[in-house]
Amino acid sequence: MTTPRDHLWRPYTQMKNAAPPLEAVRTHGTRIVLADGRELVDGIASWWTAAHGYNHPHIRAAVAAQLEAMPHVMFGGLTHAPAEGLAARLAAVLPGDLDHVFFSDSGSVAVEVALKMAAQMWLNRGVTGRTRFLAFRGGYHGDTLGAMSVCDPDEGMHRRFGAYLPTQIFCDLPTSAERSAALDSCLARHRETLAAVIVEPLVQGAGGMRMHPPEVLAEVARVAQAHGLPLIADEIFTGFGRTGTLFACEQAGIVPDILCLSKALTGGTMALAATVATRAVFDAFRSDDPAAALMHGPTFMANPLACAAANASLDLFEGEPRLAQGRAIGERLEAGLAPLRGRPGLAGVRVLGAIGAVQWTEVPDLAAVKRRLVERGVWVRPFGDIVYLTPALTIDEPDLDRLIEAVVTVVCDATPA
Ligand SMILES: *Cc1c(COP(=O)(O)O)cnc(C)c1O
Repeated sequence: MTTPRDHLWRPYTQMKNAAPPLEAVRTHGTRIVLADGRELVDGIASWWTAAHGYNHPHIRAAVAAQLEAMPHVMFGGLTHAPAEGLAARLAAVLPGDLDHVFFSDSGSVAVEVALKMAAQMWLNRGVTGRTRFLAFRGGYHGDTLGAMSVCDPDEGMHRRFGAYLPTQIFCDLPTSAERSAALDSCLARHRETLAAVIVEPLVQGAGGMRMHPPEVLAEVARVAQAHGLPLIADEIFTGFGRTGTLFACEQAGIVPDILCLSKALTGGTMALAATVATRAVFDAFRSDDPAAALMHGPTFMANPLACAAANASLDLFEGEPRLAQGRAIGERLEAGLAPLRGRPGLAGVRVLGAIGAVQWTEVPDLAAVKRRLVERGVWVRPFGDIVYLTPALTIDEPDLDRLIEAVVTVVCDATPA
């Protein structure tokens, strides 16, 4: 007998024996309501998208109004106020002259577009042979082929696809600003074949919540520039207040040549992504040659509903103290997770902005850990060797404390001292 569920193929899931998913029927604030009436405090804001909590009335109203006027229209040859306004606002809040916005519909595609921009920029300048990218071990940039090729080649979820992927150059992130010699010599060796360097600023997210100080990011930017290579900053995870500033690059005082956004761009309401280029990158595409144009154009590019949601999300970042809220979450995470520091069986406890991560040395039975977290009324999804919290920036103290308490208790139970 089949059930409706048998027709779904689920993300990163072994369909033969995975625990059945929980059915969600409603969301509000920082809560997910299940079909059986249980209500879970969401510790990860639906993969870090719901920055203002779920169903924010201001975003809902903006999307509803747009739905009345024009849910979608193609972007080739047409334009509309929601996209124009959003592009201008993103240009205004992003550092430096990151002023030229290309919209798409997912983070992976935003990365694909960034890689294509960098590669075609060289071709448009008459330089051939720059067909590869330098990426960092531990990184994650998405699940499409080009994005997969710049993810960690060994630890990522994509090892099996090695033979299908373009071969890139990988390097370790420098451990400090003074230790950039390996990166420097790697770039010196390969620079004639490289189109760009790609990095996740301050935090390698899906690769394991590994953090590096702003000085290291600044050094990566400096070394890339010294070798004449554009820098792509993948802020899909870090953008919109997650690390304590609106964008992680601000903390290092750098302006990347290309920057990718998605995840929290619409406040978690719907799919939208952006690849933003500096004036110099954009200018490399302005030409009398039609073939020099950027050759990309997703069907649902700049979807008006999604742009309306993103504009409303930016209103909230402007009008409400999100960055301060994020930093307060960080302080509470720091204090709340402190009892786990130094505990045997754990490799570390890391906090940056509104991100808290606990890493195991020996990974316990994650299915059991996930079950226990749900039993304690929280929605937290450990993966690899870590369990982490990235709640909505609007979470209140009781809900945050419940998340922290659940993680501390469950980690202690799973990691006997
Ligand atoms: C999630 C993520 C992506 C991929 O975004 P999708 O919308 O899932 O395609 C790329 N880069 C980073 C840093 C991410 O966190």
